[in-house]
Amino acid sequence: MKECKKVAIIGAGAAGYFAALSVAQHHPNAEVTLYEKTAKVLSKVKISGGGRCNVTHNCNELSELLKAYPRGGRKLKSIFYQFNPKDTVNWFKERGVAIKAEADGRMFPVSDQSQTIIDCLAAAADKQAITLQLSTGVKALKQEKGKWIIVLANQERVYDNVIVTTGGNPKRNSFDWLAQQGHKIIPPVPSLFTFNMPEENITALMGVVAPNGKVSIAGTKIKTEGPILVTHWGLSGPAVLKASAFGARILAEKNYCFDVQIGWVDQNPKELLSLFEKTVSVHPHKKIMNHNPLELPNRLWHYLLERTRVPQDRRWNELGLKNSRRLIEYLTNDLYKVNGKTTFKEEFVTCGGVSLSDVDLNTMQSKKAKGLYFAGEVLDIDAITGGYNFQAAWSSGYVAGKLGEKLAK
Ligand SMILES: Cc1cc2nc3c(=O)[nH]c(=O)nc-3n(C[C@H](O)[C@H](O)[C@H](O)COP(=O)(O)OP(=O)(O)OC[C@H]3O[C@@H](n4cnc5c(N)ncnc54)[C@H](O)[C@@H]3O)c2cc1C
Repeated sequence: MKECKKVAIIGAGAAGYFAALSVAQHHPNAEVTLYEKTAKVLSKVKISGGGRCNVTHNCNELSELLKAYPRGGRKLKSIFYQFNPKDTVNWFKERGVAIKAEADGRMFPVSDQSQTIIDCLAAAADKQAITLQLSTGVKALKQEKGKWIIVLANQERVYDNVIVTTGGNPKRNSFDWLAQQGHKIIPPVPSLFTFNMPEENITALMGVVAPNGKVSIAGTKIKTEGPILVTHWGLSGPAVLKASAFGARILAEKNYCFDVQIGWVDQNPKELLSLFEKTVSVHPHKKIMNHNPLELPNRLWHYLLERTRVPQDRRWNELGLKNSRRLIEYLTNDLYKVNGKTTFKEEFVTCGGVSLSDVDLNTMQSKKAKGLYFAGEVLDIDAITGGYNFQAAWSSGYVAGKLGEKLAK
């Protein structure tokens, strides 16, 4: 007799849709119901990537991909082995959605519209006859006689398998119903935020970008590289967001009050000293103010000269070793006080959630409760920006939808 499993997916976001579609693909006779507590599906996909949806990252090296996940990291190997960024691109391509890569590796639908992704997922779910239950929040789970019972506002329903894809949430009590099933919950804190620096006058340079910056959080091992953007409230840009992701927990413990060391250029002190010596010999009479030998915007160069207290009319042959050293110190190790955080374009993710130690990452099945699976941000998995968070949702949803069976890729 053909199997006729009843499967409930809780949460109609990226992971929920992919899990539902994967169940339909791998278990064609299963009856799949997708529950969503709000009146809309895929609402984060809709607003993602500034309305363009950064679907995945152009990254074919597994070892590189794993580095993008401060929570998850190498543990995600088995998930990405089963479904990787290339599979994501092919999956959408097979359903008529072409995906393009941008120079920095972020990948978007060619339409530059997140709605294209939503329409594709919705059409695929329709084709597979997946039942969608909108405005139906799941309140609790129960296990009875080898079956799963999901508790809704006014009724209970029985299933063979349940996949939880309820997403991240900064409130610990939103995970209580999953803790009740014996799962350890890693306390949730926000990730992906910019630094507030209310006491620092560098904010006057808002809009300025140092293209090859370095960010270190004082007293920690957190060090990142990449563009740094000065904003009217402090610092942002890829290097800062990456530091916020890798430091999400430490910085929460510090209540977002900490010192940040900024390197405005990628050269080290020795390289800078030799560059300055060369500039002195080639352009000895040029004013330091007017001749900036670095890949730095002039506004930032002038600000740093002022910070170093190099007089405005000084020429390169008058800089001297003492001033050179001071300037190099500010260029490579400029210290600022951070006091608070601001969410980056509202694009935040949750660090924390259901502990990966309670989940078999080959199948996404709970180690605490047989027949219960997890996928997406509800787990203690999150990444830096660039399409990696959706990739984790697609991959873990796909794996969970196999329902523990060893099936071909
Ligand atoms: C503004 C913004 C922009 C982003 N842009 C990008 C981007 O471009 N690229 C990228 O990779 N990542 C991006 N992210 C991160 C990405 O959106 C998330 O990592 C991803 O959506 C997680 O998918 P998910 O399915 O696990 O959770 P979600 O997308 O959060 O979906 C969970 C769903 O479950 C529902 N739910 C919750 N509890 C229940 C319940 N008890 N019963 C029923 N339903 C429930 C929720 O209403 C929700 O619809 C962005 C995030 C934000 C906030």
